[in-house]
Amino acid sequence: MAFPIDKIRKEFPVLHQMVYNRPLVYFDNAATTQKPQAVIDAIINYYSRDNCNIHRGVHFLSQRATEEFENTRKAVSSFINAPSSHEIIFTKGTTESINLVASSFGKRFISKGDEVIISGLEHHSNFVPWQILCNEKEATLKFIPVTPEGELDMDSFRKLVSKKTRIIAITHVSNVLGTILPVEEVIRYAHQFNIPVLVDGAQAVSHMAVDVQKLDCDFYCFSGHKMYAPMGIGVLYGKEKLLEEMPPYQLGGEMIKEVFFDHTTYNDLPYKFEAGTPNVEGVYGLKAAMNFIRETGIDNIYAWEEELLRYATWKLGDIEGVRLIGTARKKTSLISFLIGNIHPYDAGVIIDKMGIAVRTGHHCAMPLIELLKVPGTIRASFALYNTFEEIDRLAEAVIQVKQMFA
Ligand code: PMP
Repeated sequence: MAFPIDKIRKEFPVLHQMVYNRPLVYFDNAATTQKPQAVIDAIINYYSRDNCNIHRGVHFLSQRATEEFENTRKAVSSFINAPSSHEIIFTKGTTESINLVASSFGKRFISKGDEVIISGLEHHSNFVPWQILCNEKEATLKFIPVTPEGELDMDSFRKLVSKKTRIIAITHVSNVLGTILPVEEVIRYAHQFNIPVLVDGAQAVSHMAVDVQKLDCDFYCFSGHKMYAPMGIGVLYGKEKLLEEMPPYQLGGEMIKEVFFDHTTYNDLPYKFEAGTPNVEGVYGLKAAMNFIRETGIDNIYAWEEELLRYATWKLGDIEGVRLIGTARKKTSLISFLIGNIHPYDAGVIIDKMGIAVRTGHHCAMPLIELLKVPGTIRASFALYNTFEEIDRLAEAVIQVKQMFA
């Protein structure tokens, strides 16, 4: 079946505008994706029909919103094939999900002399929380090295694992290079030693099918806004046994069972980790986004985006002086590059003036940029609504940048 690109593009109002007198080309999808009309409508529907606080209200609106909220939790659970919906915790996004685990798991399971392993490919969100935790606990943070192609060095990884390793936290897909990491292999190896693994799925869920039972990961984190849902809503999946053993992350309403003057008892999962009024409209939007992905078909999306990646790699790679950064064997639809010695920022400003939105800089992964010995990169990241013609426009823009600096 041909991918219904025209129909899909019609569903994203933001794409149909002129920027600097040219039709907008949006290639900053790894930063955030645009929203289909169904997601926008779900938010309008929430505020114009159901707005109220959930769980505590006896009235009609509260019950209706609570039902939609909890149904979405079930939908998330089936979206990533979690065994149970009480293992799904709503958060602000990937950053909060990882902070929750670093803080709560860290409090319970990490002590002086222990070790935590992450990789050299991590976004600051899956880096800084572990670095600070290890500093506080006098534990050691170890890094899985990255090959020049942008892959994990698996032999070194196996040597890093020791009796002191308490947790491994790695990204599913690199937001700088697009590398798809061999998370199954990491998890299988770690589990031989009963070491839990957290997977940062921020760059994975909108591009490929994710099955947390098949991966057998212990935690999986992602953000709504990178999968066509609103900002400020995200998910932490955690295995029940671990979540039960972990203390609450934040304290206040909703996460309690009973409060007395001298002590408090905690609510059951998942509410133990959902203190305060949640982002209800975000949850409405997330449900619409998951429906949109399901109706389009994640395998169709993967196939379309793979074609876009192949075309862009060929088209940009063919321009003299363009250096592709990250040439892993398995990649999602993201391409990082440099044009000769031109600083990525200077190139980005010119490309923008041609109506094309790309990202330039360190992409919140400064240690990786240091490893790669580059000043940053220009990053074009594709989503399901992008086209081959748009990639042609990027290639033309790159040639113009070259000519301007010649
Ligand atoms: N991890 C990765 C791999 C990311 O790409 C991002 C966002 N750029 C994050 C974590 C953080 O996501 P958020 O800002 O939505 O919390």
